[in-house]
Amino acid sequence: THFGFKTVPEEQKENLVRNVFESVASSYDVMNDAMSLGVHRLWKDDFVARLKPGARGPMRCIDVAGGTGDIALRILDFAREKYADRETSVDVVDINAEMLKEGYKRFKKTMYHNTPQVAFKQANAQAMPESEFPSNTYDLYTIAFGIRNCTSIPDVLKEAYRVLKPGGTFACLEFSRVNNPLLSTLYDQYSFSIIPLLGTILAGDRESYQYLVESIRKFPPQPEFAKMIADAGFTTGAMHEGKGGAWTDLWGGIASIHTGVKI
Ligand code: SAM
Repeated sequence: THFGFKTVPEEQKENLVRNVFESVASSYDVMNDAMSLGVHRLWKDDFVARLKPGARGPMRCIDVAGGTGDIALRILDFAREKYADRETSVDVVDINAEMLKEGYKRFKKTMYHNTPQVAFKQANAQAMPESEFPSNTYDLYTIAFGIRNCTSIPDVLKEAYRVLKPGGTFACLEFSRVNNPLLSTLYDQYSFSIIPLLGTILAGDRESYQYLVESIRKFPPQPEFAKMIADAGFTTGAMHEGKGGAWTDLWGGIASIHTGVKI
């Protein structure tokens, strides 16, 4: 492949990822809708609803690789609409200033603008400076469609564990492995032909979207990722009990939700 990680040395991956998102920042939301046919919205709604932010009182949340603030906005809306909670807060963290800028612009139109409920912070998920992100600070750590872009998943998990309070929850929404062979075939067709094509037509940027598809294929399957979360010190599976696993598949595994609690 001409743009996949296979040809890119690990030490260059961070720069590559940064460039990809810099080139797509302004069209990112539109592309997201186009490529997933709007489904990412349903998944994100589902993700946040399962976490029930605000149910047990106001929370301090951190949304890492938060991009334009899709998850942060849902967390704040959920807490306010369900529990009349206007104290829950979210720190939106991203490595890319352009994405954060788009997020800031978007929040400007909301009631959360200029309140202590939201802050945008530029940092690398793998090494968040302790001065700005002290240990044992947050009740909830979310990362949606972000961890697969990071060079080291264990480093991200280590940092998540560090900044969470004991008893705090780690929650990840990510593209995952489809187990059904028929669905898997359809999905392959879609991702390898339609997505790069849409990238070309809508964003004039085939490579970036090709990269996104490839990064999905390289991400560890559900059981392996669950083990990495456990290895980082989290107890897994609490939210998924009754379903016999440490994760919840969405749409046959096209995406999945993994959670862990800091002991
Ligand atoms: N969470 C948002 C959403 O669901 O819409 C954004 C997801 S977007 C696919 C991935 C984001 O991860 C980009 O905004 C990118 O800049 C960010 N990112 C990539 N590597 C990162 C890293 N090492 N640390 C923090 N953010 C990173």
